[in-house]
Amino acid sequence: MATGGGWAPARSVERHGAPRGGGGTRSKSVAPCPRRPSPSPARSRPAPDNGGSADSCRVRVAIRLRPKNSEDLAYGSDFDSCVELQPESKRLKLKKNNWICESYKFDEVFSENASQKRVYEVVAKPVVESVLEGYNGTVMAYGQTGTGKTYTVGRLGKDDPSERGIMVRALEHILSSMSFETDRVAISYLQLYLESVQDLLDPEKTNIPIVEDAKTGEISLPGASIVEIKDLEHVFHLLQIGEANRHAANTKMNTESSRSHAILIIHLQRSSRIKEENSSLSNDTHDIFPDDLPLVLKSKLLIVDLAGSERIDKSGSEGHMIEEAKFINLSLTSLGKCINALAENSPHIPTRDSKLTRILRDSFGGTARTSLVVTIGPSSRHYSETSSTIMFGQRAMKVVNTIKLKEEVDYETLYKKVEREVDQLTSEMERQQKLMKNEKMQLDKKLKESEGSFHDLRMTSNIRIENLEKEKCQLESAVKTLMRDLEEERGQNNLLSEQIAELEKLVNENKQQQLENLSRMKIFTDTTKEHEKEMEELLRQLQEERRCSSSLKDRMSVLQQELCDAQSSTQLQESMAHELEKKLTKVTEEFTSQVQSLKEKISELISEKEVIYEELKSTQEKVQQEMLHRQGLEDQILRLKWSTSDICAEESKTSYGMVRSGSGLGNAAFVSKSGKIREALSGQRGTISKIFEEVGLPNVLALLKSEDLDVQIHAVKVVANLAAEDINQERIVEEGGLDALLSLLETSENTTIHRVTAGAVANLAMNGSNQGVIMNKGGARLLANVASKTEDPQTLRLVAEKLHLMLKRDGGIKALLGMVRSGHAEVIAQIARGIANFAKCESRVISQGHRKGRSLLIEDGVLTWMVANSTRFSHSTTRHIELAFCHLAQNEDNTCDIIASGGIKELLRISRESPRDDARNLAKMALDSNPAFLREVQ
Ligand code: ADP
Ligand code: MG
Repeated sequence: MATGGGWAPARSVERHGAPRGGGGTRSKSVAPCPRRPSPSPARSRPAPDNGGSADSCRVRVAIRLRPKNSEDLAYGSDFDSCVELQPESKRLKLKKNNWICESYKFDEVFSENASQKRVYEVVAKPVVESVLEGYNGTVMAYGQTGTGKTYTVGRLGKDDPSERGIMVRALEHILSSMSFETDRVAISYLQLYLESVQDLLDPEKTNIPIVEDAKTGEISLPGASIVEIKDLEHVFHLLQIGEANRHAANTKMNTESSRSHAILIIHLQRSSRIKEENSSLSNDTHDIFPDDLPLVLKSKLLIVDLAGSERIDKSGSEGHMIEEAKFINLSLTSLGKCINALAENSPHIPTRDSKLTRILRDSFGGTARTSLVVTIGPSSRHYSETSSTIMFGQRAMKVVNTIKLKEEVDYETLYKKVEREVDQLTSEMERQQKLMKNEKMQLDKKLKESEGSFHDLRMTSNIRIENLEKEKCQLESAVKTLMRDLEEERGQNNLLSEQIAELEKLVNENKQQQLENLSRMKIFTDTTKEHEKEMEELLRQLQEERRCSSSLKDRMSVLQQELCDAQSSTQLQESMAHELEKKLTKVTEEFTSQVQSLKEKISELISEKEVIYEELKSTQEKVQQEMLHRQGLEDQILRLKWSTSDICAEESKTSYGMVRSGSGLGNAAFVSKSGKIREALSGQRGTISKIFEEVGLPNVLALLKSEDLDVQIHAVKVVANLAAEDINQERIVEEGGLDALLSLLETSENTTIHRVTAGAVANLAMNGSNQGVIMNKGGARLLANVASKTEDPQTLRLVAEKLHLMLKRDGGIKALLGMVRSGHAEVIAQIARGIANFAKCESRVISQGHRKGRSLLIEDGVLTWMVANSTRFSHSTTRHIELAFCHLAQNEDNTCDIIASGGIKELLRISRESPRDDARNLAKMALDSNPAFLREVQ
């Protein structure tokens, strides 16, 4: 913003610790006011970006010129304007007369047209922002009565927001910037009148003392109400109360102006957390508090509407009003003195001289960011007041403050947090203790168990050790005996050696005697030889004994080694024995449970076995009976086979026509052509009749149920042939032959059987009373079965006629369509299938010339339903509908109805799109063969 440019950037300069002098004014970087250290843990922090030293911040001063009022205008040109503003250079020229003119530079110069908004933004907004950041701040209006101090600072502008003064705007700004969850804002509204502090929110409270904290030097006013603000409405309400209570003495100059100083104190408390690494908390404090220590930034904003700065004599006051003016002036004079002292860097600042200077102690030369708006009137009548006001502003510009941030530990939040943590730790500790107790109990149990097993182990190992000791003793005694034997052997050896020596001596003597007695020489020689032999034997025995003794020694050492090994293996065996014991107990348990379950199973199996045994017995009896029965049947079959073999040979030549020809309704041409065959047939029939009489019809019919396919086929053929004879037809039905044939048709999978059985049924159907019986036996289902399994036109005609009649008579078609309402996919699929079958039968009957006229389906509305729903349902349903439709299209009598129901389109679609070849072909055939359709298509 161009207008605010001169002031706002100054802030950033201040933050870097390079205060900038305005209008040639000298500034100082060190605050003249002595600072007291802050007690821990509350701490003061210098403004950021300042390399650790407090931020010097000069008092900012703006001048605001009030527009001419009626009084000024009334004096007219006699008292012309004594001020001239040069906003572009932020200068003001004060003209004493035509010759003397002085120029002053301010931080901002507001002309009479300046808006309240701009004044707020330039003068107060930077201070409010600073307060929001945690610094103290002061905004103050100074000037002669009637020049617009109250207008600038205290105007409420409740209805017209553009009129709002600094107090309202500052509170508005704070309310919109803070968080109601963590921050709090409260106000006190006071007036200082006749050196007495009065609470404007509670006027009963007067003479409120000003207290200075001995440690921090902080000023407070205990007793003054501090009301927490919630919203702007509340602000208006409180300020209105304050305004109403403000004592305003009328002066000659302006009846609206006041002689009291009005002071609005905004207390702001915002939460903050230490997270920066270069936090200024001491190491000690860090040891006590966690890193994210809850802190509160407490800051205060003072907005002061000072009393008029004019000299007392001019106010025209009288009596006690003079006293009053003195007091008013005492505070103002004192403020002037302090500012002079500060501006001149004087060592003594007389802040204690008045209550105003005590309250504003922090605003001038203190730690607050301070802005001053100096209001002046234009009229030269008040030249001297205007001049002294301007000089006050000039001096104030020289005052430098050292702004500091004040943070305090939020003990309440911290306490709650710590308390929560302690609770959590306590419960965790209790949980751990419980766990430990449980663990200890388990360990004790285990210990007891191991002690028991250890005791057992010791017992068994003791027994083993005793055994081994005994073994050892035995071995030792064996060794001793061996040693003794050895000793004895040695003694004998010695004895033998002595004997040898003696013998040698004797030999020598003998030799001497030899010389003497040659005759005895021979004897001697012999004796000598014998002795030598004996000696040799003795020597050999000695060597033997020696070898024996060394082997005994070896054995002893081996035994000793074995003893050692046995001792170590004893230990090993002990541990193994322990493990084996464990395994044995486990295996025993498992074995016992298995044995138990096996026992149960065995008892179950025994009972089952008994039941099966019973069943087996009865089955065996049955089988016996069956075998006997079968034996009889087989005998009959043999006979039958033997007699039918001739017939079969003939039949293979005449094929199926032979059977049919007997009915008199078959192929007439064939009949006329084969007179020979007829003869042959009558011959065969004679044979068959013979068999029939011989075997008996019940037995032939029983063979229809034979398990041997060959027998079945032969039996069916016999029955078919019998059925061709009028005289047999009723009897076969009476004897249950029709039932047997129908069930064969249903159950058999063999095509020959199907073909011959269908023929047999058709033969039986020749008889009028049989037709009724056939219908009663199985109704439509069996008819449909016959139809699907035979190609014989006669049978098909019969079936089709019966089916048609049945369906029509019973209202079946309508009922079928009615069931569509169920909407169930499977039901609809069945209906479609039924309709398709019906249409197919109908189409066959009509094509064979057995029936004429339009389809029964059309009469009952099926055609319309098919056209409307051809593709609405599942694939299989669609397929059936398409087929039914194609069959209907084959009948020329249906042409008009198909065209009328819009079926041509459907026919075309089927001929092109149907996935079924037969449907497509049928549709194409219908379209190509029917000229009416061809016309429609074109
Ligand atoms: P002080 O509080 O200094 O005695 P006031 O604020 O009461 O003066 O102003 C005196 C009169 O002048 C009031 O009627 C006020 O509305 C009017 N006034 C003051 N300054 C302006 C201004 N800038 N624009 C319009 N009117 C003003
Ligand atoms: Mg006023």
